[in-house]
Amino acid sequence: MRRLFIACDFDGTITARDTLHVIVETYGERRLWDEIEPRLRRGEITIEEAMQTEFASVRATADEVRQLVLRDAPVRPGFAEFVRWAEDSGHEVLVISSGFRSVIDAVLRESGLGHLDVRANDAAFTPTGATIVWSERGEVCLTCDRRCKRHDLRTRMHHDDTLVYVGDGISDRCASLMADRVYARAGLADYLDEQGAPHVVFGDFGDVLTDLRATVGQVDGG
Ligand SMILES: [Mg+2]
Ligand SMILES: [Zn+2]
Repeated sequence: MRRLFIACDFDGTITARDTLHVIVETYGERRLWDEIEPRLRRGEITIEEAMQTEFASVRATADEVRQLVLRDAPVRPGFAEFVRWAEDSGHEVLVISSGFRSVIDAVLRESGLGHLDVRANDAAFTPTGATIVWSERGEVCLTCDRRCKRHDLRTRMHHDDTLVYVGDGISDRCASLMADRVYARAGLADYLDEQGAPHVVFGDFGDVLTDLRATVGQVDGG
């Protein structure tokens, strides 16, 4: 069997709720997003600028943020079992996120998955506002004209790996179109429908595991 490289988004994919939303709802200024969002849509500011503006309003310590997400952004059912199956089968799992490493590590550790490889940004949380620490995302992607998750995939995958992508959101769009098999939900599933791109809609990781197990002999990179 060919080795699978399984790239998995974090917020809204591994977790049932987006941790960034949970953090802003509790410790930030929610109405700020209503001002930022139209400017973002008009292309006046980048997503990075929008996120930084919003997180500057988040007033909490790193410990408060960790406790909040552990309570309010639980891991989607079946994820730990899915990872165990993948690792026992010799496949590789990479968590690839536009969110924050310290938050992601805390959530994964709680599920006994602190060893997982994570590519993400980070944030320095303080009682007077948070600062985002951006990861190195390489050159602007020729496909989507942004710095996107394809960069992390290219630098991590072996050339003959079969790519499986699991995701839910805008930041997964471009990278998922590289994959040999895509598991999608929410906005990503809608987008792939519009694009006519094949994907499997999932509810939890039990669905992904069942489907992947059944098709793993047929999924083949090209
Ligand atoms: Mg997501
Ligand atoms: Zn791209």
